[in-house]
Parts: sequence; C-alpha cells; structure tokens
Amino acid sequence: IVQFKDIHKSFGDVKVLTGIDLDIKPAEKVAVIGPSGSGKTTIIRMLMTLETPTSGDIIVDGVNLWKMEKKGKTVQANEKHLREVRDEIGMVFQHFNLFPHMSILKNCMSALIHVRKVDKEEAQKRSTEMLEKVGLGDKLEMFPSQLSGGQKQRVAMARALVMRPKVMLFDEVTSALDPELVGEVLEVIRDLANEGEMAMILVTHEMEFALDIADKVLFLDDGVIAEQGPPSQVLEHSTNERLQSFLHRFR
Ligand code: ATP
Repeated sequence: IVQFKDIHKSFGDVKVLTGIDLDIKPAEKVAVIGPSGSGKTTIIRMLMTLETPTSGDIIVDGVNLWKMEKKGKTVQANEKHLREVRDEIGMVFQHFNLFPHMSILKNCMSALIHVRKVDKEEAQKRSTEMLEKVGLGDKLEMFPSQLSGGQKQRVAMARALVMRPKVMLFDEVTSALDPELVGEVLEVIRDLANEGEMAMILVTHEMEFALDIADKVLFLDDGVIAEQGPPSQVLEHSTNERLQSFLHRFR
C-alpha cells in the first residue's frame, strides 16, 4: 500500500535521507525507530505531502504522490492531486492540533463534511461512533480545553480515523503526554492494530509497544534503513552495533 523508491531528502546541504526503499503491505503495522535527527518525522511528513522528496518516488495505493500524468507526460503533481492523495492518509501528531472553538464532536465532523462531503447527519453518526470507540462517548459536547492530554490525543485519533484512511501515521503521539496518560492512548492504537484493517506506520520510542504490535520494525540511521525485520529480530537479536547502543538507552 505504501512504497518508497530510492527516496533522497536534503535540506540545503544537509542530507537527511540517502536512499530509502520501503514496501508496506495493506494492513501491515510498521514501527520506525532511530536516533533524534535520523529523519523519522521527515518520512512521515513526505507521506503526508508536507515535504517534497529531493529525488525518488513515493507511491500510496498505486498513486504516485508527487508525479502525475498529464497529456501522456509525467509532470510534477499539482495541488489538486496532492489533496486527493492526502485524503487517503490519516495522521496523528505529537501535538493534537484540534480546533479549540469546536466541540470534540464538531472537531471530528468537520473534515467529513468539508472534505468527504458527507451530509451532516451521517457525519454526526460516524463521529459519535468513533468517539465512543476511543472511549469519549460521554464527552461529545466538550471543548478541547476541557480535556486531558490523553483525551485530546484520542480525539485527534478519532478525527483521523473517521475519514477511513487507507494508511494511518502516528508520529510520537505519546511523547508530549504525562506518563500516566500514555497507556490509554497506546491502548487505542493497540485496539486498532488488532482490528487489522489499516496499514499503520508509527514513529515511536515505546520499544515494548513496538515489540508488541508491529509486524515490522525499521531502524533509521545515517540516512538509510540500517536494519529491518520482525520486532523480535530487530529489537532483541540484532548484531548492528549502532542499533544496540541506541536500544541500550531505553533499557
Ligand atoms: P526526532 O526523533 O528528534 O523527532 P527525527 O528522526 O524525527 O528526529 P527529523 O525531524 O525527520 O528527525 O529531522 C531530520 C533532520 O532534518 C534533522 O537534522 C533536522 O534538523 C532536519 N530538518 C528537518 N526539517 C527541516 C527543515 N524544514 N529545514 C531544515 N532542516 C530540517
């Protein structure tokens, strides 16, 4: 469902990614780990079309994010094309980016109505169901400022999920939370993973969690995927020294 083909990304003279190849299958759960600055967020941002690769192709569900056919020629994708592919991808950030002036129900309904063109009644029904699923069915009319960090993060998740994306991206969603709130957010992600329908890509420092839910772990280091495989292999049996020293910090 997601392919990276020889992706390079530089910011000015700084080469962040130097040849990333990746093939994620529908319903596959992938955890991305690596040192600070290794480019984990950049990968997520490129998938979200918020950042352009310097070279290479990113293909989501058969659609090239950055290139399109026009009159038989391959050209740079325009805004309309980018918007269409972006709509298939859900994302949850470290900070929640909720609309402060809207109830959490309205937060969830907004993109359904304006992007998916779902009628109001249907949007309300789907949003209510999704908020119930993340354990917030009794808080529909509350505003973001009245919720805890963990609750806000669950709203952000419901808002992305209600769009029924083909791929969900989670970028360090628990790292801004108080430790006692981390569990409730991971629990929602775990339930989603167990449902199994969507591909999920998680940037995370929660190694135990990655070990538990991921089908595949990628260790990003020095601009490349230095190691990848099933979680037990990467997290427990790798002989890569840099990976071992990285993991050591979490023990
Ligand atoms: P962390 O774990 O600290 O979040 P990361 O692995 O997610 O790190 P990125 O945020 O992807 O790393 O950043 C990778 C590198 O790219 C860093 O050196 C960063 O300074 C640089 N970088 C990211 N975005 C930009 C930008 N817009 N302009 C210039 N440099 C950038």
